[in-house]
Order: sequence, then structure tokens, then C-alpha cells
Amino acid sequence: MTGQSLWLHSAEIIFRKPFICLGLPGSIAGWRGAGKIREGEARPIQASTGPMQETIKLPRPRRGLFLDRDGVINEEVGYLVHPQDVRFVPGIFSLCRTAHRLGYQILVITNQSGIARGYYSEADFQRLMEWMQAEFVREGASLDAVYHCPFHPEHGVGEYRREHEDRKPGTGMLRRGARDLNLSLEQSVLVGDRCSDVAAANTAGLRQAFLLGTTETISCKGSFQPISSLEDVERWLLQHDAGI
Ligand SMILES: [Mg+2]
Repeated sequence: MTGQSLWLHSAEIIFRKPFICLGLPGSIAGWRGAGKIREGEARPIQASTGPMQETIKLPRPRRGLFLDRDGVINEEVGYLVHPQDVRFVPGIFSLCRTAHRLGYQILVITNQSGIARGYYSEADFQRLMEWMQAEFVREGASLDAVYHCPFHPEHGVGEYRREHEDRKPGTGMLRRGARDLNLSLEQSVLVGDRCSDVAAANTAGLRQAFLLGTTETISCKGSFQPISSLEDVERWLLQHDAGI
């Protein structure tokens, strides 16, 4: 595995790779601090020693591809914990490779009530995600961060029985991911398979939500695009972000 995992919080794993720099370089950050310039804008500056002008193109806002895990990355089997039970959803690696190429950070946001219910532990979850990350890396498509919500308001045991803003349709994981990786939520996209995924994306103001599969498509409210495969998302990204 090329990245190292770092636990920042009981519900977060961020895979940091050496080449990822969070935040802007100091010189560019200075321009942002000047107040009248926005990310993505080009601005001519006057060189101090002569009339020659040069243009600095500031980096575009970073954007995220938020992925639900169960039913989007792996087939839904119910309380997944063992690598041998993982069946990756067709197209997931290609989607992530394309998204990275187009400048997206890839974040997993997943409700894990199996932890709340005592079916498996936080450490079990972390082990499975590190195994998954190794599989992604092997396929040339790494994950940048993983957030999970281990709480459930009714079925949780002990300290895990509680409401939490992270539990989708809550937006806690989306907002924290955006903050940690310096993302613009308005430029970001989510793929889920539940109405709660769509609701979280809509509340957080994401650019686009996709709902994979047919189980909840008809009954979900809100703004989303139903899709039958992850290839639909990849095609959408290419059309909207690469002009293909
Ligand atoms: Mg799901």
C-alpha cells in the first residue's frame, strides 16, 4: 500500500499519500488573503521591476467524489466484515481512476450500524477498509479518506446508542470531509444507494447526487439522478468535467 492510514477520530480514516498537500502553497494563499480574488480566477499582476505582466492561474477549488460503501463500492451483503465476502461493484475502480484524473478526491462516507449493534468492532471495520484500500491501490485507484458513523439511535449498544450528525441523512461526514480535504461541496458529487444518501447530498448542497439501483429509486424525494450502473457516473464526469 502506498499510503499510510491515519486515525484522526474514531470515525475517520484519512489515507494520506506523500504527494498530497492539504491547503494552498504559501504564495497562492497570500493572494487569497488579499480578498478580491477567488479560486479559479486568473489575475494579471504588475511586476515590480517593469511593465511586463504575468498571469497567475489559481487552482480550481478541490472537489470530492463522495461514495457510500455498501451497495456502491461493494455489493450489499448485510453487515460486511470479512474480505472474503467482498464483491466489488462493477465499474468502481474505473470510476475512481477517472475521477482522480479529473481532479476529484475520493471519500467514503458510510453508516456502520453493525458497529452500533455489536456485530463487529471499530478495529474490524478499520482492518476491512485497509484491505479494501490495498485492493484499490492494486487497481490504480486509491481512496483518499474514509468516514464512518458507528452510532444508531435505536439499535446501538451502550455508548453507540445515540443520534449523531454523522449518521446519514445527517451531513456530518460530508462537511468534515470537505473541511479535512479542503473541498468545495458545491463542486462535489455523491453516489449512494439509499434515500438517506440523497438527502445528505441535497442538504449539504452538493453539485449532483446519483442513486444507484432500483430498490429505493422510486420512493426517494429530493434532487438526484437515478442510475443503473457506475458507468453512468463515470460518463457524467467525463461529459461535465472533461468535455467528452
Ligand atoms: Mg448503501
